[in-house]
Amino acid sequence: MKSYRKVLWFEVPRRRAFINITPRVEECLGESGIKEGILLVNAMHITASVFINDDESGLHHDFDVWLEKLAPHEPVSGYRHNNGEDNADAHLKRQIMGREVVVAVTDGTLDFGTWEQIFYGEFDGRRRKRILVKIIGE
Ligand code: ZN
Repeated sequence: MKSYRKVLWFEVPRRRAFINITPRVEECLGESGIKEGILLVNAMHITASVFINDDESGLHHDFDVWLEKLAPHEPVSGYRHNNGEDNADAHLKRQIMGREVVVAVTDGTLDFGTWEQIFYGEFDGRRRKRILVKIIGE
């Protein structure tokens, strides 16, 4: 069995963003040489997410509006966690959107449903953050 690990870095210039990382994950899969197995991608920060959904800008806007309704950034004083920090909303948003995704690797490709793409969800950006790609198989 082969095993592959890589850390990918991001620095999002805004507080919040959704970034399609599918091409970068596919690069990792190519580098790994693994044809059959399982691929894991997870955020290594508790204020960012990795999730699978559609690459459609209207939907991304809808996610952002929905998350702001559930956990508005302002007023920052409305959260107990914001005791010297201002990112309580980012922790909550990350929890809803998820920490990681697992994708089957079949014949050297990501075995996706028709519209599935992998996204990095940033909720407290403007600093360097990372995700982990781990692939096992043969
Ligand atoms: Zn925090």
